[in-house]
Amino acid sequence: MLEELAGKRGRGTELISVYITPDTDLAKVMQQLRDEQGTASNIKSKSTRKNVLSALERIIQFLRTYMETNRKPPPHGMAIFCGNVAGREDIADVRLYWVEPPEPITIRMYRCDQEFVLEPLREMLRVKETVGLLVMDRREATLATLRGKNVSIVRKLTSAVPGKHSKGGQSARRFERLREIAAHEYAKRVAEAANEVFAGIPDLKAIIVGGPGPTKEDFINSGLLHDQVKRKIGGVLDTGYTDEQGIKELVSKAGDILADLEILKEKSLMRRFMEGLVAKENLVAYGEREIRRALEQGAVELLLISEGLRKHRITIRCEVCGHEFQETVGDPDLHKKQLPARNCPKCGERKLSIVRIQDEVQELLDRAEKFNTRVEFVSTETEEGKQLQTAFKGLGAILRFRPS
Ligand code: ZN
Repeated sequence: MLEELAGKRGRGTELISVYITPDTDLAKVMQQLRDEQGTASNIKSKSTRKNVLSALERIIQFLRTYMETNRKPPPHGMAIFCGNVAGREDIADVRLYWVEPPEPITIRMYRCDQEFVLEPLREMLRVKETVGLLVMDRREATLATLRGKNVSIVRKLTSAVPGKHSKGGQSARRFERLREIAAHEYAKRVAEAANEVFAGIPDLKAIIVGGPGPTKEDFINSGLLHDQVKRKIGGVLDTGYTDEQGIKELVSKAGDILADLEILKEKSLMRRFMEGLVAKENLVAYGEREIRRALEQGAVELLLISEGLRKHRITIRCEVCGHEFQETVGDPDLHKKQLPARNCPKCGERKLSIVRIQDEVQELLDRAEKFNTRVEFVSTETEEGKQLQTAFKGLGAILRFRPS
């Protein structure tokens, strides 16, 4: 949807964006919009004025209807976008879009511009998983977390391992023994810190380990790390430093490592799907109709959706008998033009109209949530991902059981 909205341009500053926080008094928003109508009547350009006024009217109408059944904004607030998106002076195509975002809206905004203001919604979609970072050598270790673009140093440790040469009357063997004990003590402390810090992050995506020389590899293989922490290690690489500077080095490479991890994950999901296709149990489904049937029966364990899927789910209603049915289409506008020539499947009259248009991905996500189905998006950057998009029309499902 953001992609679609980002492509819209007004001829003048006539596209309206309204952001409403969850605690906003909707009556006040209505009042503000009416005030804006007053201001807009001073706009010099006749076509811009007309477009802004009719967009404002549309938003007010929308809110009025919304408030008939709801007292308050949705739990995360809402964003409304409205304006003449025809991009031409001779055509008026005033459209209203509204979004209930995945995270709460934190800013109130009314903006009239040549394009819609989408940045607050984009920000919500940015990856916010946490990545654990550890740089170490024999003397020093630094633990940090990376969340979005924020790096925070969580723990710093130094070793008490004595220098390489013995002093005073110690025997070389005894000195070597002391060094080993001190090194082990240090490794244990680093492991304890890592176990404590990283295991306590619920959405930890991966851990990246760095440092000069082989100490880090020895550490990883020492058995000191808890299994669940060790399993999260997604990359090990050489850095020159073991302090904040070393953490910076890791951060600069983290993007590539995470992208690789993501691709590995996608490939393994797709492999599971492909293997399911040829397996005897046949616990996979493809084709939209079959997948929807399986979803409705709670049979889908994992739904794979291609990031390239661009379709709409429309609800069609017969004005004569009231019969309603749904279809999936690429271009709802084109579909709308063809409707007058179609007969109602129930009463046969030709009075069909579209009463609801939803983004297909969103509609599937809602359904999946209802039936406790896990959803994974698959990019179109890998061969496997391209196959999902083209050969399987963007959808695949791994099943818990065969639907009846
Ligand atoms: Zn009918």
